[in-house]
Amino acid sequence: MAIFPSRKNQKSRIARRCEDDSVTKLRLKYAPYYYTFDRQEGTRVWREGKPYIMLSSNDYLGLGNHPKVVEAGREALKKWGSSTTGARLANGSRTYHTELEEELADFIGKEACHVHAAGYLSCMSAVATFAERGDLIVVDKNVHSSLWSGIHLSGATAERFIHNNPDDLRDVLIHEDPDRAKLLLFEGVYSMEGHVAKMPELMEVARENDMFSVMDDAHGFGVMGPGGRGTAAHFGLESEIDVISGSFSKALSSTGGYVAGSRAMIDYLRTHSKQTIFSAAISPSQAACALASLRVLKEEPEHLERLWKNTRRYKEMLENMGLDTWGSETPAMPIVLGTKEKVYSFWKDLLSKGVFTVMSVAPGVPPGKDLVRTAISARHTDEDLDKVGDALAYAARSL
Ligand code: PMP
Repeated sequence: MAIFPSRKNQKSRIARRCEDDSVTKLRLKYAPYYYTFDRQEGTRVWREGKPYIMLSSNDYLGLGNHPKVVEAGREALKKWGSSTTGARLANGSRTYHTELEEELADFIGKEACHVHAAGYLSCMSAVATFAERGDLIVVDKNVHSSLWSGIHLSGATAERFIHNNPDDLRDVLIHEDPDRAKLLLFEGVYSMEGHVAKMPELMEVARENDMFSVMDDAHGFGVMGPGGRGTAAHFGLESEIDVISGSFSKALSSTGGYVAGSRAMIDYLRTHSKQTIFSAAISPSQAACALASLRVLKEEPEHLERLWKNTRRYKEMLENMGLDTWGSETPAMPIVLGTKEKVYSFWKDLLSKGVFTVMSVAPGVPPGKDLVRTAISARHTDEDLDKVGDALAYAARSL
């Protein structure tokens, strides 16, 4: 006789929890996420024969279909195959890794750089590798999920400071043990808010308190600073900040990410980072596309100029309509509406007028800041922006 009752035909607690989850049910009911498009061309995507202007992608420089980028990806696939099928520690690096890392480090203004197969891995690694149990991480409370994952994995204690508020950072530190190892964590450009970090003031506090500093510049790289060299270059603070992480899935129109720092920091990361040691290397085509985009960024300044021209025009348009952009200063442009219901209705109105955006509601954003997130690309034409303007006016009227 069995000691335990048979579980045949009975679902486990975890399976039931997943099937009964109210948030998943809500998502499936409204089905606004995970849309499948069957065609893409420039800033347009098609679903069931209908075209939409893509206004939520982070394709800031619009390089995804640039002939040099597409050709580089194709060539890399031919030369190297599809994958290294393993971690670099085990299977070795390829010249396409080292070439990309050297050019990136030089561009960002750091000694060395290490690339991963996802920005999420890079950003997580930039925290989890350098902080350890017993350390204190003082973190801007609005940072990205990848950085929170890094915090949890590190085992260090975390204290939050008010978003982009160096005075609050100072206040948090007053109560802390001066001899404890501390890490300051923030973003260069905040992905939801479009805010630029008050980097000079934050770095001053870091200096006063002997803090190691880590900045995620996923949305600042290729967008901010001279030639798109990022937020640290924008402020001339490349040598002050210890570590910069970022992603290739925004301005560089690829996938993957990087961690940049001193040679010693990157050697340490290659020795200790689980996200590197136990994860397969970035694929040849991903790396080649990122490198080709980086070279286009250096050689063709018109993309960056066009991005900022579009951003200025778009922001002015939103403000003239009385829409709340949360003070965004960058191409990442939220439209804050305040409640889930308003966000859903606004999003649907835009969709009905052929404009695709993304909804972001609490707890993904702070309470009362439920928003429709939009992002501008250098590739949006004047005609695209006219059409977006008409759609926004329609959605704003029915609010
Ligand atoms: N950091 C920030 C601030 C991000 O917005 C993102 C992606 N949205 C990431 C890291 C992760 O990058 P990826 O999507 O390339 O993995």
